[in-house]
Parts: sequence; C-alpha cells; structure tokens
Amino acid sequence: MRTKIVAGNWKMNKTLAEAQSLTSEIIGMVADEVKGNVKVVLCTPFPYLHAVNNQLGNNNRIAVGAQNCSEHDWGAYTGETSAAMLAAMNIPYVIIGHSERRQYFGEDGALLAKKVDKALAQGLTPIFCCGEPLEIREKGTHEALVKQQVEESLFHLSAEGLQKVVIAYEPVWAIGTGKTASSQQAQDMHAVIRKHIASKYGAIAENISILYGGSVKSDNAKELFACADVDGGLVGGASLKSREFVEIVKAI
Ligand code: PEP
Repeated sequence: MRTKIVAGNWKMNKTLAEAQSLTSEIIGMVADEVKGNVKVVLCTPFPYLHAVNNQLGNNNRIAVGAQNCSEHDWGAYTGETSAAMLAAMNIPYVIIGHSERRQYFGEDGALLAKKVDKALAQGLTPIFCCGEPLEIREKGTHEALVKQQVEESLFHLSAEGLQKVVIAYEPVWAIGTGKTASSQQAQDMHAVIRKHIASKYGAIAENISILYGGSVKSDNAKELFACADVDGGLVGGASLKSREFVEIVKAI
C-alpha cells in the first residue's frame, strides 16, 4: 500500500514567529484528522527547520522537510546546505528539482540526479519534482518531457534506491497561477509516470507515491486525490494558511 502524503511547500515565506504559529495550529488541527497510511510534511525555509522539527517532537503524523539541498557534502560552497547537514539535524524529507529551482537557479536533470543521490545517501526521502511548462503542454509533448525528467534524474538508481523516492508531478502552468490541472489531466500524467517507471523497474512502480502539485486547494483536493494514481499533494500557497491546509489534508 502506497503512503499518502500531503506536503506543504512554504517557499520563502513567514517570519520565524509566524512559522511557529502556523506549525502549532497545524499540529492542533491535524491530530484527529490524519489516519491510516497518511503523512503530512511541512517544507519550511532552512532557518526554521530546527525550530519546527523541535515543535513537532515525536509526532508520527507530521514531519519536516527542506526545500532543496546541495549536490556536495561539505566545503567551500557559500550559501549552500548539504543533505549531510539536514540528516544531522534529523530532517527526514527534502524537495529536489522544484520548477522554481529549475527555472531561476538553472538546475538541470544531471545536477538533480546528484542531489537525489546525496539525499538518499544520507537517509533522507527526496520529493523529486517534475512537470512541463505551458508551451510544452500546448505543443502536446508534455508526456515525453516528464518521462525524460524522471529518466534523467532517477533512472540511474537501483530499485532499492528508487523505492525511497517520492515523486511530485507539478505542471509549471498550474503552480501559483490558480489554474489547476483537471483530475483527468493529473491522473493521465501520473499513470504515464508510473508506467514509465514500471518499464524499467517492474512491479515496484506500484509502491511509489506520486503527488500532484499545482494550485491544490480545499475545494479541488478531494477530486484530485480520488484519482487512482494520485497519492497526495505538494501544496504551495494553500499550505500557508492552517485551516485551508488542514482541509486539504482531510481530503485525503
Ligand atoms: C508548489 O510550489 O509546489 C506549488 C504547487 O504551489 P501552488 O500550490 O501555490 O501552486
């Protein structure tokens, strides 16, 4: 049975005090809502990881995650944070390859493959993002591009390694735009990704959680999460408001 995950990506938002209030509210509200095979992940800005992780304590429903990590372990890389540092702080999740990292920081498939390796080597769970820009969707080559993104950054892994990765399909045209993929568009692409993984790795493709991201809100989450191959969501804007985020969690 695949783990269902709702991950909030706070991006570069909130002061420390606001981050702590948001965390407290989510802890309070999620306690009774998360049942069974469901995990909630709060991907906070780097400076707040330690405080939020401490706030969560031994909470076995909610975990903290980083939004990026370096492809290096240690050394003269000013401004960077390594997977080794995150592991030493007991941070269990890390987003890798978010479209904003690809777009604004020039991260490509080969670099992301190295980041995935570093995260796995440190025992972190990478939440690997893929997804097509609008012009590719309009050209009709979106399936080919997403398959290529998955292949470039994940297909060097062993089956054992791949099973530790969570994938997030996030069509770029739906991120922060208020425009959501229809549940059919999401299901179709998730099935394509799973089938592509199965073509190389066989039955383990069935064990991999594939999340949908792109303007997920409380009023569309239920329909998206009901799709057979959608195992939860990566939520940006709507994860910054506790009530809205918890409504999304409830939808799973
Ligand atoms: C994201 O940043 O991963 C995201 C999906 O953002 P939003 O929910 O705001 O579209």
